[in-house]
Amino acid sequence: MLQATDLRKEYGSLVAVDDVDLEIETGEFATIVGPSGSGKSTLLHMLAGHLEPSGGTITLDGEDITDTKPQERPTSLVFQSWALFPHMTVRENIEFPIRTTGRSVDGQVETLLEQVQLDPEVQADKQVSELSGGQRQRVALARSLAYDPDILLLDEPLASLDYVLQKQLQRELADLNVELDMTFVYVTHSLEAALVMSDKLFVIDEGDLIQTGPPEEIYREPNNKFIAEFMGDAN
Ligand code: ATP
Ligand code: MG
Repeated sequence: MLQATDLRKEYGSLVAVDDVDLEIETGEFATIVGPSGSGKSTLLHMLAGHLEPSGGTITLDGEDITDTKPQERPTSLVFQSWALFPHMTVRENIEFPIRTTGRSVDGQVETLLEQVQLDPEVQADKQVSELSGGQRQRVALARSLAYDPDILLLDEPLASLDYVLQKQLQRELADLNVELDMTFVYVTHSLEAALVMSDKLFVIDEGDLIQTGPPEEIYREPNNKFIAEFMGDAN
């Protein structure tokens, strides 16, 4: 279980994440949802270890990882923008993390590309610049999976894609979570996406966690006006 207790981040006088408590079970698809500027990325990047908390602790299966370096955590982050190496091929992009973790690359690129629904024979040796937006996002996902993480952290990875492709990739991510039996922590401002994909939702607003629970519960019993309105506006 991934657990955050009183997790806090201040930027000067701004409290971006205000003493948040989270519990995410192993294998769960957890989604952090809230409007723009609510502190989602800040929270996720603290879980990834890329951002130092101002207070609180993060534990994994009871072990304190609050001060553990990102590369020493069993987490892998898929960024809001693609962040692929543009001058490399798809294969080189995916092999890079495998080599840095000292594992054999044999057959790995093919397996990973198939997991993200890309045909290795067609795509593996293309340059990143030759790919469409959706294909790049799939490669970015494959590259994050190439770190062989226990926990995949996804920061609004579908934001730049068209609606139809977003829907399709949301379904694929939900399937992949089950297929790989990996913990997914997904960040989005779309409550609709969150309701469709997740086992558990964390609703955040202005740095405060305002409701936690399974999607059905949040849908049925929004605990305040904000969530009810947010649901009304959900696209
Ligand atoms: P979005 O949906 O637009 O990506 P978000 O929920 O991910 O938003 P954050 O990026 O976590 O929001 O930002 C939370 C708050 O912290 C915002 O008010 C933002 O302006 C502020 N903030 C984020 N990063 C910094 C920083 N490096 N320095 C100062 N303030 C920051
Ligand atoms: Mg963000």
